[in-house]
Amino acid sequence: KQASVKPLIDVQEKAAKLYHHILVNTKLGESALEYLHQRKISDEMIETFNLGFAPEERILKPFFAENKTDYQLLRKSGLFTENTSGDLRDWFVGRLMFPIRNTSGATIGFSGRLLQKNDDLPKYLNSPETEIFNKRRIVYNFDLARPNIRKDHDLILFEGFMDVISAYQAGVKNGVASMGTSLTNEQIYDFNRVTDHVYVCYDGDTPGQKATNRAVDLLSKEGHFNVGVIQMPNGIDPDEYRRGQGSEAFQKVIINGREPIIKFKINYLRSQYNLSNEEDKLEYVDQVLHLIASLDNPVEQDLYLNEIATTLDLSIESLKTQVNRFQKSFS
Ligand code: ATP
Ligand code: MN
Ligand code: MN
Ligand code: MN
Repeated sequence: KQASVKPLIDVQEKAAKLYHHILVNTKLGESALEYLHQRKISDEMIETFNLGFAPEERILKPFFAENKTDYQLLRKSGLFTENTSGDLRDWFVGRLMFPIRNTSGATIGFSGRLLQKNDDLPKYLNSPETEIFNKRRIVYNFDLARPNIRKDHDLILFEGFMDVISAYQAGVKNGVASMGTSLTNEQIYDFNRVTDHVYVCYDGDTPGQKATNRAVDLLSKEGHFNVGVIQMPNGIDPDEYRRGQGSEAFQKVIINGREPIIKFKINYLRSQYNLSNEEDKLEYVDQVLHLIASLDNPVEQDLYLNEIATTLDLSIESLKTQVNRFQKSFS
């Protein structure tokens, strides 16, 4: 098996090198380079993450033809589409290229981003699944982040590649992301081996919050580590925050913005209910009190009960009575 994947990896590495060269050294890459600079991505990050550009002109096919690369190898590389007569055409066209590395640091595929919005095309396009590119298994940046995760004993899970790169530039080097899909058990398995804290730092928009809710549930269920949340301000994603507020402010949010799951849930659940409706309000309180009843620490319980009593204008006594009932039914 090892012997058979080597040539496939070799092709990805060569493509990455070509895309990178186009971005940093050629006229074809100028607009993409400018785009990255506009997003305040440094040249150092462009090197570290080996970013590249796939121009409109299809360049990969002639490049590999010149190198006399085996046709069957190219077919299964995921870098080409194939028509009915077997002709290959570049898969990535007019996209900023993010090489995806496996846990050992070898390039196994790509994700490509359009430079501007186009309603007919997806913003990000990934390599198709290949022998070596399996989206469920990929943890973006795990190879570079791993030593830092081991050192700090915590891992930060972002939503997108740009968030990971942006954080890295700001000195937050323990960040990883899943491949645009929801978190998988395979990825959590990798986290389990290296860390005892995972913080979910997804986008502050509605889909980001929904994904956070799902991620914290899955991480708590499958992970042998503590799980927390780092909240970005309304609607903003981590990269936008860093770009707007600078690296120091970003680092502060990453440290001081950490909160336990229960706090996230109290707020998240609140946004799911219409609290001026009595039935909704009772349902919300019921949900939240179940969560509070599952906390071991009575001081922590008190803290959140007080918060809820104040915000919902309920008596702390009745809330406590209910929590005690729930706790009895657990044991
Ligand atoms: P950018 O800042 O460049 O717009 P982002 O990371 O903020 O990118 P989001 O829209 O927040 O992008 O999406 C988060 C992640 O989801 C992306 O990094 C990408 O992996 C994935 N993704 C987003 N849109 C698509 C798409 N149309 N097709 C496939 N994957 C996507
Ligand atoms: Mn998002
Ligand atoms: Mn973004
Ligand atoms: Mn985003």
